[in-house]
Amino acid sequence: MMFDEVGPDCAGEQPGMEALQAWMCLEHTLADSGTYVCKYISGSDPPKRSFHAEGRAGDLSGYPLPMSRGALFLVGHAEEIGVQEVIYDRRIWRSTYQEWRKFTGKDPHTSHIHYAINWQAARRSTEAMLAVLAATKGRPVTQFSPEQLTQLKLVVTATIREHMGDLGHTSAGKPVTPSFVNAARRAVDLERVARKADVGKAEG
Ligand SMILES: [Zn+2]
Repeated sequence: MMFDEVGPDCAGEQPGMEALQAWMCLEHTLADSGTYVCKYISGSDPPKRSFHAEGRAGDLSGYPLPMSRGALFLVGHAEEIGVQEVIYDRRIWRSTYQEWRKFTGKDPHTSHIHYAINWQAARRSTEAMLAVLAATKGRPVTQFSPEQLTQLKLVVTATIREHMGDLGHTSAGKPVTPSFVNAARRAVDLERVARKADVGKAEG
């Protein structure tokens, strides 16, 4: 599986990343903490672009249990999806060495999962990734337009925040029960999200 090094330029949002991020939010009950940002890795010297700058990285936040499961899912399906890097809870996993190693970067990543995908996945041309995304019950996330994906991430994030409180201060302590996770998932109606985005598009 390809590990694509980051280049010197910002590249904008990538459709595969946006679809995968929306799907991760929905299926793993996580909040969208951002994908594309034209920036350098904080503390890098000489300055090095973040995968976020190429639209190939996503950040996901939530309570410890869903975050742990989300990180394990991304590593467990790295080959088929095209995941090349996962950083979570002071550890980093890369497709080039296929194991969790100690992460010593400035941000310990205890408040969110960071993950990056290769260019093939970012361009949404990994067949297996499409299969994983299409496995979502209801309307496949891959069929969503960019506007609908944005709407989906907003709805999932709002739903999770409503149930869990402020995600910025939740790293320790509060248990997440299976019934909560199921309730949060049920609260997200894919068709409603799609319709809402369509209406917004028609009006705008
Ligand atoms: Zn990140």
